Amino acid sequence: MIFDDLGLSNEVLKAVNDAGYSEPTPIQEKAIPHVLMGRDILGCAQTGTGKTASFTLPMIDILASGRARARMPRTLILEPTRELATQVAENFDIYGKYTSLAKALIIGGESMGEQVKILDRGVDVLIATPGRLLDLFDRGGMILNDVKILVIDEADRMLDMGFIPDVEKIVSLIPKIRQTLFFSATMPAEIKRLADAFLMNPREITVAPPATPVEKIVQRLVMVDHRTKRDMDGLGKKKRDALRKLIAEDNVRNALIFCNRKRDVDILHKSLVKHGHDAARLHGDMSQPARTETMNKFKAQEISLLVCSDVAARGLDIDDLSHVFNFDVPMHAEDYVHRIGRTGRAGRDGRAFTLAWREDRKYIDAIEKLIGKPIPLHGAGKTSAAEAAPEAIPAKEAKPDAEPEKTAAPAPEAPTSEAPAPEAPAPEAPTPEAPKRRAKPKAARKPKQAAKEDTASDKPVTGMGDHMPAFLANPVKS
Ligand code: AMP
Repeated sequence: MIFDDLGLSNEVLKAVNDAGYSEPTPIQEKAIPHVLMGRDILGCAQTGTGKTASFTLPMIDILASGRARARMPRTLILEPTRELATQVAENFDIYGKYTSLAKALIIGGESMGEQVKILDRGVDVLIATPGRLLDLFDRGGMILNDVKILVIDEADRMLDMGFIPDVEKIVSLIPKIRQTLFFSATMPAEIKRLADAFLMNPREITVAPPATPVEKIVQRLVMVDHRTKRDMDGLGKKKRDALRKLIAEDNVRNALIFCNRKRDVDILHKSLVKHGHDAARLHGDMSQPARTETMNKFKAQEISLLVCSDVAARGLDIDDLSHVFNFDVPMHAEDYVHRIGRTGRAGRDGRAFTLAWREDRKYIDAIEKLIGKPIPLHGAGKTSAAEAAPEAIPAKEAKPDAEPEKTAAPAPEAPTSEAPAPEAPAPEAPTPEAPKRRAKPKAARKPKQAAKEDTASDKPVTGMGDHMPAFLANPVKS
């Protein structure tokens, strides 16, 4: 099928052609004609499948007729993170370049005054993260009565991040008669329940994930040895040494380097800069302008190494990223897939290295179960993490090959009396997204949740962070 068959306008087709797309992806082929017909969509699709264009392209055409009124957006797109929201806004610029739609991006960390001004002029498309949208709504910054199309993107990510109560509140503010496009990479029961509540007779579309990382990306596990308590204390240094060695040896053009904790993002960033690397950092405690500037520089390849938290793990579309490093093994297996999926995009090669120590074994097991195969040990041919773990292999095979000590699996010696036997590394702030996964939605929105959105996958913001406490909002009229 070609784009011309989908019923899109010449303006949109021209923009798609300029973007260099020769044919629609499966989700575009399946969704676009139905969106144009006004149907609700329940799309089970991940980032990387072209799902953004599957809703933005037809929305541009639908919005071509009609005009926006002040503070009354005509369509609303909800995204879980600022970065994804920004990316969707960029998509509107690319695909809407031959039309004249007004859009607003409402995300935490940016000046509310500016955002209100844009809304005042009237916008066709409002792209927002849930917390900031509700803050602005509560301050009287907008009316949602005119929203005719609602897009809820990355619904399972919203659930992970505890935003579902916010999303439910927002949906309750939008007219019942509307078109709803609902996308989620996975469909757990809670997401299905929401889909049932929000959608009317939807067209259900499921597309295969983009070529899975297991097939396209060269993945390696680098075991960082420690035997004694002292070794463990110095593990950060050992990992940093191992990482620098990999960067030097593996022809790294540009890389995302994921840490589980924001503190470690800062430490590692400093260390890389000290060692002469062209590195920047990105995590949820940074101001939004700094996050945006860093991400833009990285995308423009002005910076080659970006040390980051999971705030950068999902959906970000970075051209031609040669490497992903997991400085820490992610504690949720899906995060591994999202992290390494930043490389090897659009048919390009990608390499992903995960630095691990033996206590990470249970996380590695979960990852290997999810991706359906063992992650080969770096320099060890086919050896998997499980095989390399000290308790699983006989002494003779402990050292997988001639790989240097720092990256080889520890020899399975009996632990010394000093050797600790921790259950698992205990990060001070667990990687993952703010609240508990699969948390049950609460009936009413708690103000704190707006702050979580801004830190994405990090621990709660320190101090007030970007979040505006409700009492400050009361007397203010923008
Ligand atoms: P998404 O899943 O929306 O994040 O899109 C992933 C990537 O695919 C983005 O870089 C898009 O620019 C690109 N893309 C979207 N549609 C197409 C298409 N039909 N052909 C080629 N690339 C596409």
